[in-house]
Amino acid sequence: MGWQKTLARAVEAEGVGIHSGAQVKVRLRPAPVGTGVVFVRTDLGVAVPARAEHARDFSFATTIGVRGANVGTVEHLMSALYALGITNVFVDLSGPEVPVMDGSALPFVQMIQRAGVLEQNRSLPEVRLLRSVRVSHGDRFVELHPAEHFSVDYRVRYRSPVVGEQRLTLTVTPERFTSAIAPARTFGFLSDVKHLRDRGLGRGGSLNNCVIVDEYRVLSGRLRFRDEFVRHKILDLIGDLALLEYPLRAHVVAHKAGHALHVAVVRELLSQPEAWELYEPERVAPLSVHPFALEPVAHAVAG
Ligand SMILES: [Zn+2]
Repeated sequence: MGWQKTLARAVEAEGVGIHSGAQVKVRLRPAPVGTGVVFVRTDLGVAVPARAEHARDFSFATTIGVRGANVGTVEHLMSALYALGITNVFVDLSGPEVPVMDGSALPFVQMIQRAGVLEQNRSLPEVRLLRSVRVSHGDRFVELHPAEHFSVDYRVRYRSPVVGEQRLTLTVTPERFTSAIAPARTFGFLSDVKHLRDRGLGRGGSLNNCVIVDEYRVLSGRLRFRDEFVRHKILDLIGDLALLEYPLRAHVVAHKAGHALHVAVVRELLSQPEAWELYEPERVAPLSVHPFALEPVAHAVAG
């Protein structure tokens, strides 16, 4: 990390939205310094910056929106962009939801690799914690602790013996994300499918883009990892933390959390300005940076 980055050229893909069932084209294209990640609903002509304040809905996915224009299921793409350090990018979408692809973040990692990464010769401050921040709901929680690197310790527990209790701790680097986290697919329980459909969700879900588990077995073939479930939770967490807009130097501990708590901890952090600082490592504080040039970025965090 250290420098703002964008893509070297535009890349496209197409697929179905897991909840809307809509067929959607997604196009990632380079963006100038200070842009952040901005989704563009090309069908509506509305831009939706990927920021915590724009998070709208957390039922089974994270939806962001402005002025009635929503973008659903942003977290897998956001996770890939954040973990690979892509700071500035426009994401054109022809419909209401990011395509689910194979249910993991690997297709998005491959899109980024296909596009190539361009360093933008402008430093990127990081959020460094000065004290811990915690949000909880019953026995579920997410904690952010001061640390030198970005690391995650995630624990899940499900009644289904197929999943049971899983825990994974890792320091997040682009390489480790690509090999250990990005391939982990989204999952759901057969018992939830009817409930989802009743709510108008999961219309694009299938055994090709979701690991479906019934009480005692996995219905969608072999798992990619024995603990694919907790790995996918880490994938989701990283995608939701990306709404912070800056690299996060923190040790994140999550227990039985989900999208709502992932986003809540970002909002809690932003609401406690005394709990963190924007930190620029010395090696990336070039004198050539004009103070006003950084203003839109700094404003983005404060706002
Ligand atoms: Zn997910």
